[in-house]
Amino acid sequence: MKITFLGAAKTVTGSCYLVEFSDRKIMVDCGMFQGHSRQNEFNEEPFPFDVGDLEYIFLTHSHIDHSGRIPKIYKDGFRGEVICTKATNDLCKIMLPDSGFIQEHEAEWKNRKRIRAGKPPVPPIYNAEEAMESLKCFRPIAYYEDITLDDKLRVRFLDAGHILGSSTLEIWIREDDTENETKIVFSGDIGNSDLPILRSPEFVKEADYLIIESTYGDRLHNSTEDRVHKLMRVMKETINRGGNVIIPSFAVGRTQEIIYEIHKFEEEYPAYVKFLKETPVYVDSPLATSATEIFRNNLDCYDDEARQYIKNGDNPLDFPGLKFTRDVEESKGLNEDQVPKIILSASGMCEAGRIRHHLKHNLWRAESSILFVGYQAVGTLGRRLIDGATKIKLYGEEITVNAKIETIEGYSGHADQNGLIDWVDHIKNKPKKVFIVHGEPDAQEVFSRLLKERFGLDTVIPEYGDHFDLTTNNLSVQKPYQDTKDRFIRLQLLSQIEILKEQADFIGVHIDQAYLNNKSDDEIEELQNKVAELDKDLINIRQRLIKMD
Ligand SMILES: [Zn+2]
Repeated sequence: MKITFLGAAKTVTGSCYLVEFSDRKIMVDCGMFQGHSRQNEFNEEPFPFDVGDLEYIFLTHSHIDHSGRIPKIYKDGFRGEVICTKATNDLCKIMLPDSGFIQEHEAEWKNRKRIRAGKPPVPPIYNAEEAMESLKCFRPIAYYEDITLDDKLRVRFLDAGHILGSSTLEIWIREDDTENETKIVFSGDIGNSDLPILRSPEFVKEADYLIIESTYGDRLHNSTEDRVHKLMRVMKETINRGGNVIIPSFAVGRTQEIIYEIHKFEEEYPAYVKFLKETPVYVDSPLATSATEIFRNNLDCYDDEARQYIKNGDNPLDFPGLKFTRDVEESKGLNEDQVPKIILSASGMCEAGRIRHHLKHNLWRAESSILFVGYQAVGTLGRRLIDGATKIKLYGEEITVNAKIETIEGYSGHADQNGLIDWVDHIKNKPKKVFIVHGEPDAQEVFSRLLKERFGLDTVIPEYGDHFDLTTNNLSVQKPYQDTKDRFIRLQLLSQIEILKEQADFIGVHIDQAYLNNKSDDEIEELQNKVAELDKDLINIRQRLIKMD
């Protein structure tokens, strides 16, 4: 039996694992690489094996970094089944076509450049229609059901508490010449125990092999106690100033959590009922609107608190002032009248979508607030705003940032280091080997060390293309995976250089005469030393490049 790591290896995106046994092939997740343009480029790479031989894809959840290459693998000839929970199936019905639209737009944008450069146009990785096509392969199943696919293969989905429908997979495999089953557990993305609406992540009792995520393997979340009070305070203060509250929010998951929290606040703090009744809250994202509908149709995934509301005849994803925009006209109209309002819009990191229009109309207004409720990756507009950008460019126009920039932590969809350790602690019969995936290298190293120290576990941090043979206990890279791995490493280096460039630009824009005049001598000296260090490193890289030539 072999496992090959084809994504989320020493990085957080592109989850994809191939399991081979007795000449059969199954896959867990088939996600997209996301983030920098170079990583996106990697999604175009062909799968390094004959996808027609693949029997099943077990999908842990609908996030695009776990599901986004399913339409591509279908386009390339996969005709097996994608098995996932019903809620994941429902969410993929809206998220994969949406991803298809994004691919079409990206290809269009790329082709405009290519045509100007005299190059032939390229097709998108897949379009919305092709994404719709691939949904034919989906087979929704229920949580906890023992799915026996044949006498050699069975699987069970447990709730991972990360997003609606998310799961941890238990896979039992019996090879041709053996009596015993081998149990492989894929943690999927492990959720946070105090996320609104969702149940806490469930534990597994035993595993022979474990493949576990490590996004927050080196960090702890701040206390979540005050997040809802901060949400209310920012909303109230901004509305009283006569401004708008703009909340960049992931369309699926975070938006519904915020709606739920506002509803809950209204129930628990009657003093706010009047304020909330008089303040319109708009959800301005077609994807978020559809996703909210799916949340309302999958009540069986809710935790006890959310179920209690339903039992009492109350809809926890609704409250009197909540409105969903119907079309682009209504969306544009939101910035035309002067009525202070709250607008939830996507994308969550401000990289695309309607949120950019709302930012354009509100960033310059000192009375408005931009409220971040999710992680902002390096290089995104959201991150630049959090880092204190004073001017930004939107639609070719320079806009001064006068609005208040606020962030609320604690709405993380991932367990922190303590959560991950607690999850492993609950496995009674510990695995022979643990593969640490879905994390940045630093987080993985720290987490790996902890697992060794706390539980004496044998851990591996696989790289892209690594092959692990369970029978010989041997980790290697084989043809044709080596070639893909080489290309992957090169694209990753280009990505890092692009990020460096962006960071340098950011420093260049922010450090000017006026900025430096405000700083103390100590601060100037510290900055001077840091810049000198950086300068030395860059000179070293240049010299290395000259030598390599
Ligand atoms: Zn996820």
